[in-house]
Amino acid sequence: MIYLDNAATTPVRREVVEAMWPYFTSEFGNPSSHHEIGEPAALALTQARENIAEWLGCRASEVIFTSGGTEADNLAIKGIALATPRGKHIVTTAIEHQAVLESCDYLKRQHGFEVTVLGVDGEGLVDLDALAAAVRADTTLVSVMYANNEVGTVQPIAEIAAIAKKQGAAMHTDAVQAAGWLDLDVSKLGVDALSISGHKLGAPKGIGVLFVRGRVPLEPLMHGGGQERGNRSGTENVAGAVGLALAARLSEATREEDAARVAEIRDGFIEEVLRTVDDAILTGPRQPRLPNNASFCFPGTSGESLLLELAGQGIICSSGSACAAGSDEPSHVLVAMGIKPEVAQTAVRFSLDGTATAHQMRVVASALRAALVSVRKLGA
Ligand code: PLP
Repeated sequence: MIYLDNAATTPVRREVVEAMWPYFTSEFGNPSSHHEIGEPAALALTQARENIAEWLGCRASEVIFTSGGTEADNLAIKGIALATPRGKHIVTTAIEHQAVLESCDYLKRQHGFEVTVLGVDGEGLVDLDALAAAVRADTTLVSVMYANNEVGTVQPIAEIAAIAKKQGAAMHTDAVQAAGWLDLDVSKLGVDALSISGHKLGAPKGIGVLFVRGRVPLEPLMHGGGQERGNRSGTENVAGAVGLALAARLSEATREEDAARVAEIRDGFIEEVLRTVDDAILTGPRQPRLPNNASFCFPGTSGESLLLELAGQGIICSSGSACAAGSDEPSHVLVAMGIKPEVAQTAVRFSLDGTATAHQMRVVASALRAALVSVRKLGA
């Protein structure tokens, strides 16, 4: 099997499983318990928080462990918007993950917020002039994703954050897909909040992080025992936090080399597909693009049928975002990029990991050509 759906989820690294194991067994304590069973768990949580802070270039007190990317996005958007008295206006983009779009929609429906949803160009990039024109004196929050999960477009977050800051608005970025591939230093990015999900970089599902800059007010969504400095009550997922901290450390150690190598292999794959498949359309830009993303539309076919054909040949990829999988709606990301709905239905996304090889991707390109022949023959 060749697994090319790493944007949906990644396997947990063996070292990560091993590092987590004691926190399910011998060191199973509740970090809030002041006894010899609780204390090692509290120490591990502190260490994990410090490691994450080092990774992001922030203070340990600015790291909030969450249950994943969805919760991190919800807490960032609702938490900052509801705690900031300066206004009720949010700026975001049409290609965000549902966790962001639905959180904004909730604020609109239940709290009377006004939400400006910026469009993007044909490659999924936000127009900085349009953004600057949209941010107002009553804008509390600007939320723009670092890298898109379907087409890999990387936004100029530092420039976007500078525009938000100029108007005094807080800046959040969903870095779920960027983690493990791009630099997440929050000072360089200039962001006030940043979301991460463990299962996209070799840690388990159900653990994530929200970085929130110390001075930014935050209304908690979870009320209870006051864990995470009152920002997210609930007994902490100690093993998950330990796992995420290690996965981050391991991926950061080789990130730049991995990114360069995988981008070259991915570029070779894109070239081959565009050269050998009639009508293939690359979705998203050549650059700036996530190093591990290759996504296409194949007009006149069906993305779902292609996935089935490829799966039959042992190749696992996706028709776009796993979160929207199962829905017949064309991808909101592709539609926002100006791709016709019937073409958007033919999308296939290949998301590589650090083990990808050029040979493997030539096998995939050849399997894709065979799959296209079968699907076109069936008229699907
Ligand atoms: N944001 C982006 C860009 C994602 O790709 C995903 C998951 O696919 C999420 C948020 C949600 O993360 P989680 O699965 O940890 O809830």
